[in-house]
Amino acid sequence: RPGLTLVATPIGNLGDLAPRALAVLRAADAVLCEDTRVTAPLLARHGVSVSLLPLHEHNEDAATPRLLARMAAGEHLALVSDAGTPLMSDPGYRLVRAAIAAGHAVSAVPGANAAVMALTLSGLPPHPYLFHGFLPPREAARAAELGRLRAAERAGLSATLIFYEAPHRLAETLAAMARHLGPRPAAVARELTKRFEEVRRGTLEALAAHYAANPARGEIVLVVGPPAAEAEAGAAEAGLDERLRAALAA
Ligand code: SAM
Repeated sequence: RPGLTLVATPIGNLGDLAPRALAVLRAADAVLCEDTRVTAPLLARHGVSVSLLPLHEHNEDAATPRLLARMAAGEHLALVSDAGTPLMSDPGYRLVRAAIAAGHAVSAVPGANAAVMALTLSGLPPHPYLFHGFLPPREAARAAELGRLRAAERAGLSATLIFYEAPHRLAETLAAMARHLGPRPAAVARELTKRFEEVRRGTLEALAAHYAANPARGEIVLVVGPPAAEAEAGAAEAGLDERLRAALAA
């Protein structure tokens, strides 16, 4: 039926493309994608031949009226991003908002999302959570954003925080978080669903020291425990100190 369907694609493991995702992509009048060089091989691998239209940050606003007109003419469009769930730190929000406002049917085939996968593997409270996406790359803007989050926490926000981060900035970002947010449990999820998948858990400080000494590679999600976990982490450390003292005294 006419309208727009958001279709999740794998975040590394090609086996994670849902059968229904393939069916929807095959039946679509056109597939909107961030980069045809990424989506064309994925579709070719599954023998799907469909016309691809680029939709990215730079053309989303300009392309939207044309895409709405195609839906109004009875077409069914699918939207994918390079990896994972469209709109999640990826293009599509403005098109979805416009399609809803124009009364078109908007649906989704759910699937991989690095943020949710990292959250579920982090060992940190799964809800409430705040998905932040990428922090600004520049130090001053990043410090300001972390300061705003800390202020929101002082005003009562208590949520597990989820960030996307580039590997070359990881150690620096962890250190900035330790400074601005205080001692917290955290987890770094790397290369999810891929061969070298790894989840490293520890305090922000310990993780910052680890990645300063062992620079990270690959794709990364950073999960930070809520402020309430500070007390727990402190208590756990205090407990450990006591056990150590008792063991040493024995
Ligand atoms: N739409 C995607 C999703 O649903 O997860 C996210 C797209 S965003 C442009 C790309 C960022 O997501 C990467 O820089 C990384 O932070 C995170 N990411 C994507 N795939 C990942 C993976 N396999 N393991 C860890 N993080 C990943």
